[in-house]
Amino acid sequence: MRILLTGGAGFIGSHFSDRLLAEGHQVVVYDNLLTGSLDNIAHLLDRRDFTFIEHDVSESIPVEGQFKAVLHFASPASPNPNSPFGYPQLPIQTLKVGAMGTFNTLRIARAHEARFLLTSTSEVYGDPLEHPQREDYWGNVDPVGLRSVYDEAKRFAEAITMAHHRKHDLDTRIARIFNTYGPRMRLDDGRVVPNFLCQALTNQPLTIYGDGSQTRSFCFIDDMVEGLYRLLMAEGDVHLPVNIGNPVEVSIAALAEIVGQVSGQAIQTQTLPDQRGPSDPQRRRPDISRAKAWLDWEPKVTLETGLRLTMDDFKARL
Ligand code: UDP
Repeated sequence: MRILLTGGAGFIGSHFSDRLLAEGHQVVVYDNLLTGSLDNIAHLLDRRDFTFIEHDVSESIPVEGQFKAVLHFASPASPNPNSPFGYPQLPIQTLKVGAMGTFNTLRIARAHEARFLLTSTSEVYGDPLEHPQREDYWGNVDPVGLRSVYDEAKRFAEAITMAHHRKHDLDTRIARIFNTYGPRMRLDDGRVVPNFLCQALTNQPLTIYGDGSQTRSFCFIDDMVEGLYRLLMAEGDVHLPVNIGNPVEVSIAALAEIVGQVSGQAIQTQTLPDQRGPSDPQRRRPDISRAKAWLDWEPKVTLETGLRLTMDDFKARL
């Protein structure tokens, strides 16, 4: 297939490009490099089956030729208010790429009668009051909170995707991505895995925000790519959102301990006041029954193995 992929220079998008090319597809990436990096796709730039176009997909998208699939991955994704790459620092761009970017990519999919895949997020559940989160849970989102620029943009993105499916019979798919980590993550984006790994590798104390009892469920990038690829390729009625994430839930304090074990050094931790305020979700874990049933997919890589692989990549880049 000839595939249009937005955000293909980002962490997940670049790994997905690798997978698409390995499966024999042709890939045209649009990315404005706001949070992505050419380093992630440098190894692909000379390939004839790969094209990179530096462009902001929130503006109109000029295309040449026909596409069989349109995949919208582009968005800032870090909630860190202190990083220049966090969506709280890029509020308008985040809203635009979730809203206009989704609309623009859907229009191309419609014009080309192409399959459409949106990467949405566990953030649509906000600070969830139901646990674990199933796709039919409607969420608990503050519409004007610090995270709202991301959460509400993705909720709009899901709504307009379903509207195109229902109104225009477009073949759409929606993946709700939970916390994902692995090689190529920005070292400086402020999320907990890159922070802890960089801190462990430079002998600094691991910064735990608040009491560390808040939980997340971390999915290694290879598992994520497999889940997304299966969703893209699935036949039949797979239009409603699908959680893609690892259901193994750990507290942030426990994650610090595991990073210590993986690094093989005695690590220190430092408790910092809660940096994120009330919108920082307390618990997050996907219910992946739907992904199991529809895609025959579940994650395979343990947190220890994934962190080891990620640490090797970070060591080489620090
Ligand atoms: N966190 C932390 N120390 C850090 C970075 C993050 O304790 O150095 C916490 C953060 O407050 C949140 C959790 O780790 O509760 C996960 O944060 P992350 O930024 O990785 O992404 P999120 O899952 O919140 O989108």
